[in-house]
Amino acid sequence: MSVKNVYYKMLKQNIHNPDRILRLMQMGLNYEIFRVKHFSRDKYALKYLNEISLNIIKRTIERPESSVWVNLFVPCEVIHAFDLNPICIEYYASFLAGFQLQNIYLDKADNSGLSDTLCSYHKAFIGAVEGGIVPRPVFSTATSTICDANNSTFAYLSHKWDIPYFLLDIPHEKNEASVRYVYHQLLDMIKAIEEVKGQKFDIHKLKKIIHTENKTLDYIHRTLPLLSWKSYSKTMTQEMYMLNTAHVYMGTPESFHFYKNVYNEVKNSYERKKRRILWVHTMPFPFRPFRGLFGEKGQFEIITMELNHPDTIHLDEAEDPLMALSEKIIDNIYNGSYERKIEKILNLADILKVYGVIQFCHLGCRQNSGGMDLLREALKSKNIPFLPVDGDGLDMRKNQQGQLITRVEAFLEIIVNKEERMI
Ligand code: SF4
Repeated sequence: MSVKNVYYKMLKQNIHNPDRILRLMQMGLNYEIFRVKHFSRDKYALKYLNEISLNIIKRTIERPESSVWVNLFVPCEVIHAFDLNPICIEYYASFLAGFQLQNIYLDKADNSGLSDTLCSYHKAFIGAVEGGIVPRPVFSTATSTICDANNSTFAYLSHKWDIPYFLLDIPHEKNEASVRYVYHQLLDMIKAIEEVKGQKFDIHKLKKIIHTENKTLDYIHRTLPLLSWKSYSKTMTQEMYMLNTAHVYMGTPESFHFYKNVYNEVKNSYERKKRRILWVHTMPFPFRPFRGLFGEKGQFEIITMELNHPDTIHLDEAEDPLMALSEKIIDNIYNGSYERKIEKILNLADILKVYGVIQFCHLGCRQNSGGMDLLREALKSKNIPFLPVDGDGLDMRKNQQGQLITRVEAFLEIIVNKEERMI
């Protein structure tokens, strides 16, 4: 039995002892951070991405007194201004798959009576909290953006753990009144964090974060057109890790350092040989068969996942930073009509000159699956091949794995045949 398998077995054997599980998780994370630092053959930026992503989980376990549970689109810049560490609950849930523990906590949530149709990321997180392997944070906050599972999950867990919870209600339309409405909620949220932390909010710190965010966004938007003809292969796991740098850790020196190095590495990389695929929404995290199709030896490359490409171009630094953040949250394309998401996907497909688009319709995710036909029509009108695939991003037991892989293979073959006909 390999060392890895012995480790996974030990985790499972200690499932009723959460303290021991947490110690084993720390041990595994320390080992992985060391391995990535000293033995990984990845490019520098991707190695750095792995390192910061592993450290996010490690900090959540080791320093719960400075951790805050969030969803993906909370304006975490405010949380960083308090020197607190946000952790996206969907990210923690995905990470359970890295420890091969996701099924145990999914079942735990199922057995507690949660609906079978609830998003598995939320279910696994609830199961992990119930199982005692997510240390109690100081605060929790979510936006009403993108998904209706957030409010109920956060409200339930915060009540159960007796921690403050703040929901940011984001209007769909942008106008003076709606920006003011969000602005005042941010002020209330800041007041609530001040009380918990016993520390005054420092607006200058937030201004510095917004400044770093603007420099980071500049690198991201300069990198994008280069990716239409330069090669920069990442793993599917690294695509998922980028949800941290693009959202939850945006504005931090770590995120800036990562994107600056990605830009330099893309600029200096060799010309592209692979066919580019744009991936829509989440990725099945531990799904190995895709690695063969999109891995180092495949003819195709997932050029980016639309969800981890920030929509903001620049935040108004001259303004009150809280006003700039209020506008950013309302402008988020996952807020409001699905048409906004379609526009983003068409724009990315155009800039990146993609060969096709694959949408992963995660079970239980209504906004994603519900908009699928609209997206199909829009891509058809631009003559861009499109494949929607149904499955669960975390609970692999719900996936028809053979069928899934056959459908993706057939789609990629259609792209190759279409290309050959055009030559
Ligand atoms: S996958 Fe969909 S339902 Fe699940 S957390 Fe993300 S947006 Fe919400």
